[in-house]
Order: sequence, then structure tokens, then C-alpha cells
Amino acid sequence: SDIKRLLVVSNRLPVTIDKKQEGYIFKESVGGLVSGFSAYFNSLQDTTFSEKDSVWIGWPGISVDVEDQQLISERLSQDFSASPVFLDEVTMDKFYLGFCNKTIWPLFHYFFSLTRFEDDLWEQYVAVNKVFCEAVCRIARPGDVIWIHDYHLMLLPAMLRERMPDAPIGFFLHIPFPDYEIFRQLPRRWGAAILEGLLGADLIGFHTIDYTQYFLNSVTRILGLSHTLGRVRVGGRTVRADTFPMGIDFTKYNNTAKQSRVIRESERLRRLLGDRKIVLSVDRLDYTKGIANRLEAFALFLEQHPEWQEKVILALIVVPSRVGVDQYQSMKRNIDETVGRINGRFGTLRWVPIVYQYRYLPLSPLVALYSASDVALITPLRDGMNLVAKEYVASKADKQGVLILSEMAGAAKELDQAIMVNPNSIEEIADTIKEALEMPAEEQQRRNQSMQVLLAKYDVIRWADLFIKQLLGIREAERKAA
Ligand code: UDP
Repeated sequence: SDIKRLLVVSNRLPVTIDKKQEGYIFKESVGGLVSGFSAYFNSLQDTTFSEKDSVWIGWPGISVDVEDQQLISERLSQDFSASPVFLDEVTMDKFYLGFCNKTIWPLFHYFFSLTRFEDDLWEQYVAVNKVFCEAVCRIARPGDVIWIHDYHLMLLPAMLRERMPDAPIGFFLHIPFPDYEIFRQLPRRWGAAILEGLLGADLIGFHTIDYTQYFLNSVTRILGLSHTLGRVRVGGRTVRADTFPMGIDFTKYNNTAKQSRVIRESERLRRLLGDRKIVLSVDRLDYTKGIANRLEAFALFLEQHPEWQEKVILALIVVPSRVGVDQYQSMKRNIDETVGRINGRFGTLRWVPIVYQYRYLPLSPLVALYSASDVALITPLRDGMNLVAKEYVASKADKQGVLILSEMAGAAKELDQAIMVNPNSIEEIADTIKEALEMPAEEQQRRNQSMQVLLAKYDVIRWADLFIKQLLGIREAERKAA
């Protein structure tokens, strides 16, 4: 039959294992890729892919003792269609907090001064990619379609290609691909290995046209390979690079916002905050997110428009992330101090300007907050896509609410009805806060309506379908040409 298995490969599994006294426990992992992609994975029906046979391969979040590995594998396979890559926590820390988040993450987000160039980090990156390769090879069968995700596994496509010359292999990069001037800062040996690693895939997907072009440009400048219409000939194969802006599970957010308990929670939040206007800020603790500028801009807005004092609050949610990287700890201290300083300066007995929570919110409370907020202030200095911006718009059941969005977010290419802002300009952000708070209701509705239509149409399932369709098309053309 034509029904195939899909093997999804990502650094983390959608399920995380924890070891408690009573034994291993399994819980849902958190994070953008997992929450978005799970919708697609769980929607597989026996059309293109076999629903029951498809497998998600990744690290389960913990070192598993050798004697328990068999049991864990069976449990993950039966209950979660997941297959674990067993790696100890020390190795994973060196890999994840090392080359992934001290080299690739800062460099690809244009934070050159935070980028570390260390051979042992690179060696660890290569080693862990090899372990993933072995794990995939143990599971893969002829006919399987392999889809690898994100910057942790950029060497894996070529490693797998060597072992499986005819397998359909796709790769998607969820972060920006930087301009050649930035990419070439990587030692040539690493840069070439990363590009060659990616070119092991048949199809390489990016969120925006710019990222796709930057990748192709680096391929030409560093590897000397030419490209036409996004196609590169390499080792007798044609590799395609193309743009697929990732969508969200629109229905999930839109329906959650309409649930009566979420509506009640949203109303309760508004009352709790004194029926003031709410400006929302939600992101992981990360220097790419522009949180410091955002706080200064809110302070400047309050200073320039004293008539708004006591009438607006900033709801600041910061989600703990990558606690093992130094910058993240000093950034946390900075945010704590800035919030304290601004609240001390403007606050009154009746009013705290910034309500601050350092924690992760599950779906319902998050949607209640999206839905209660008059303005979402999303000002990353650089962001591959930014799903929060899309989720905010999708959660506006009454279509009220204004999105302020950084032009440096991948999502800005699609969400053209947001108020665009340059995240480096504190003045500009302060001005847009005022503009957003004063936008007439009809205009808010008109803008949200137009963005909701787009988000409903290009949702995460559509995104994945388009990618897979093109991947299978390329393989089919290769087969015919052979
Ligand atoms: N998120 C969440 N709870 C929170 C904050 C964020 O579930 O308290 C989710 C959010 O819904 C989104 C993801 O985390 O799906 C963040 O993805 P985004 O692309 O905005 O940023 P990233 O963290 O991937 O850089």
C-alpha cells in the first residue's frame, strides 16, 4: 500500500520522563515545537501516514539506567508512539547548553558577542548527532519518511543519508538562518559541515523567504554550489530549500477562548487587575526576546503620558529557560531589578504598574490571559517565527485586542495587520503602546478578523501537509529521474 510511517526526530520528545521514588513518571513536554507539532502528529490518519505506526524519536529528558531502558522503551512506544534516544544528562547538558545554546542560538539570532567558538563544544555536537543517527537507524525501515527538526540536529540529515541513500529525509529549521556575513563567523570546518549536514535532506524548510535565501547564499559562498529556484545539485541528488511559515493549532486556541471556564477566568483576571487596561508580555527568559527594552518602553510611556497612570498595567510573564547558561541568570536578575525600579517609581498604594510572574503557564490560564489582554506587546530583537503572536490573535474570540509586533519576528511577514515596531527603539515602542491603547474598536476588529482568516487557513496541520507533500514530490521526481 501507499501508506507510510512518519519518523519525526527532534532533540526532545513530546513526553518527558521524571524519576520519582515510586518509579518513572511521564508528562507532557513544554515548548513551541512540541505544542505545535503534536497537533499534526496526533492528527495523522491512515491516509498518507499510518496513524498507529508513526514514531517520534528524541531525548526523553533524563538519564535512564540501562536495566530500565527496555521497559521505558516499551512504555513510550505503546502509550506515546515515542522512541527514546538514551543519552545521559551530563552529555545532554554539554550538548544543549553547549554548542546548541552557546554557539548556534546566539549566532543565528545575531548575538555575535555572546557566541562561543570552542572545539570541545563542537565535538560534543558531532557526537550527539551521531547518537541520534544510530537511534534512527535502529528504527527506520525502507519506505519510512523521516522529518528532522531544528538546530540541534543539523548534521543528522547527511549522517542518515549515508546510511539510507534512498530515504525521503526532510529538515525544518525553527530559528532564523542568518545572513552569510554572520554565518561565516563559524570556523569554515564547522560551517561547511553544517551546510553539508543539512544538504543530506531532500527538502530543507525555513519560516521566511529571507532565511531560505540566506541559507542558499551561504551554500554558494562556502561550498561553491550553485542554486536555481531553490534547488541545489549535490552528490547526484537534487536538494530543495523552501519557505514554510509555521502555523498554530488555530482551532485549539480559538475554541479554548470560547470555553465558559476560560471566559470566567478571563473576567476574573480583569476584575482582579482593577478593570484597568492590560498590556501583555509573554516569553521565555531569553536575550533574543527584547524584554529589557520593552520594560523601559513601558516606563517611558507612563512618564510621557501621566494621564494613563493607574489606568493600565503590564502583565509580564517570563518563562524559565536554559537555567544553565550564564547570560540567562544575569538577565533574570536584570529583569527583577528593572521591574522593581519601575514599580517603585510609578506605583501607588492602589496600583502596581507591572504584575510579574516568573513561571510557565499551561494552556487554559495562558488563553485566559491572552483573551483578557487589550494589547499584546511582542518585541523580540530577533525571532525565527514567534508563535505567541499568532496564539494571541487566535485567542481573541470577540476580535478585540491589539497586537504590537517586532518587525524582527518571522511572524511579522504574515501578521501584516499588527502594529509593527522596531524593537531597538524604546521611543517607538512607547509610542505604539499609546497608539494601541487608543485604537478604535472597529479597527481592532477589522485587523484581527483579517489575521484570523489567515491563521485559520494556514494552521499547523496545513503547514506540515505542505512540507510533506513537497518532500514526497521531490523523492518521486528523483526516483523517476534515476
Ligand atoms: N507558552 C506556554 N506557556 C507560557 C508561555 C509560553 O505554553 O507560559 C508556549 C506558547 O503557547 C508558545 C510557546 O510556548 O506555543 C513559545 O513559542 P514561541 O515561538 O513564541 O517562542 P520560543 O519559546 O519557541 O522562542
